[in-house]
Amino acid sequence: MSVNKQVGRVFLVGAGPGDPRLLTVRGLWCLRQADLVLYDGLVNPLLLRETSAAAERTSRAAGVDGRRLDQEEINRRLIATAREGKTVVRLKGGDPFVFGRGSEEAAALAEAGIPFEVVPGVTAAVAAGAYAGISFTHRELSSAVAFVTGHEDPVKPSSRLDYESLARFPGTLVFYMGLDRLPEIAKSLIEHGMPGDTPAAVICKATLPAQRTLTGTLDGIATQVQAAGLKPPSLIIVGECISQREHIAWFEQCPLFGQRIGITRPLKQAGNEIERCLDLGAQPVLMPLIEIKPPDDPGLLDAAIARLNEFDWLVFTSVNGVRALFDRIWEIGLDSRVVSRLKLAAIGPATAEALHEYRLRADLVPESYRSEDLASAMTPHVKGQRVLWPRASRGRDVLIESLTAAEAQIETVVAYRHCDAESLPDQAIELLEAGQLDWILLSSPAIARRLSALLPDAVRPQLGQSTRLAAISPVTADAAHECGLPIATVAETFTWEGLWESVLKAVQSPFAPRK
Ligand code: SAH
Repeated sequence: MSVNKQVGRVFLVGAGPGDPRLLTVRGLWCLRQADLVLYDGLVNPLLLRETSAAAERTSRAAGVDGRRLDQEEINRRLIATAREGKTVVRLKGGDPFVFGRGSEEAAALAEAGIPFEVVPGVTAAVAAGAYAGISFTHRELSSAVAFVTGHEDPVKPSSRLDYESLARFPGTLVFYMGLDRLPEIAKSLIEHGMPGDTPAAVICKATLPAQRTLTGTLDGIATQVQAAGLKPPSLIIVGECISQREHIAWFEQCPLFGQRIGITRPLKQAGNEIERCLDLGAQPVLMPLIEIKPPDDPGLLDAAIARLNEFDWLVFTSVNGVRALFDRIWEIGLDSRVVSRLKLAAIGPATAEALHEYRLRADLVPESYRSEDLASAMTPHVKGQRVLWPRASRGRDVLIESLTAAEAQIETVVAYRHCDAESLPDQAIELLEAGQLDWILLSSPAIARRLSALLPDAVRPQLGQSTRLAAISPVTADAAHECGLPIATVAETFTWEGLWESVLKAVQSPFAPRK
């Protein structure tokens, strides 16, 4: 690879088929290095969380605004940006060289003398087989597989595809881009001698929680697909191997498969919940209602840090509080030793875990995770002691009252600021309107209130019907009730894990509405 400092590099990266976790390790590395990411319409936007680069979409899906860049223009952008010395990632659905025009982009780069690298991706067919339980090369059923474009009209004489050979192909056929032409494809295969009762399947939105799989036979599959209203992106599979699906399809068995779940946490902190959602087979819908920002006046926090040795206890009621304090300590040139004399209290396991990131152990974590429980757990230990609480710019004051009643001297300092989101993202509103958002998870009273404030009146009646709300604690549920939001389930342990468990229980309960 060239080490020419003047010219950057272009990575043609396969993003995988849809599930963001199927990006390769190399692909992830590229996203983290990138100065510019140009991505196509099949790329899951969740992948863009992995890059701090400017990201632009080069195609648009139906109904979504945005300019479409043609191939020439994309090539020009790649070349021009690399010539500025930048690292460019061209992120393409599936694998860049499988029906992806990646090789045309590579040729343009080669011609322009731009150093480039091609990072393969998991192509849709391979991924769809895995997620739908169909092995194209099952030892007893098929010894070959062909990836075929379904884009060309099989009836036109200009078609470069030889349907006579395809009909005789000794193995599994997988058609990309063929859904709109499925009737002609099936007809041509049958006309050229393939039996009409050959097993056939269509897999739509493979590897995504919206995945749908239809199975049937070659002569009937087109009618089935039309009746079911399947849409692209879809693959057509023809061959005996389809029959094993019954035994080994696993993805559709995930406990929350197909559910769409509104994640209201600040974007930066949504990572764990996105993972959890995907792990359960559900689609995360990011709809942050609150963002976390540094305090208006960091001087106050600095002053508190300078006086840490005057205190006996530090108490934390959120992960944000821990990170805000210790990141600031580091930024101003100090380190964790400034708290070596202090006892540390954390409201729950996640907050304690945040302390572990700084290699600190909590001296006290209550058994239940509300401010009231934290105060009771601290009460026997804090009489006459000085307590510092680095907290959010707003929130409940229970801790101040209870610890004062326990004869502690408590001081607070604003370590971070909560900022309300100005609006709900369009995607969340569209799903709400269509009755397709199954859950919204509420993790604090402020989040519940903000949801109520931003919810368009027209969709309020959906709540409790097509969209259910889950609250992390009774305090959050009460705040929701006060603004007229119905709560379907409340976590038994007041943590994110508890919240997920309550949703799982509600979905698995025999009384839960089925879709
Ligand atoms: N380079 C891509 C293919 C691009 S062509 C790859 O390697 O996967 C676009 C076609 O890919 C779609 O028409 C569809 O047939 C298929 N496809 C892409 N993603 C898909 C998905 N998640 N589920 C089903 N088919 C998909």
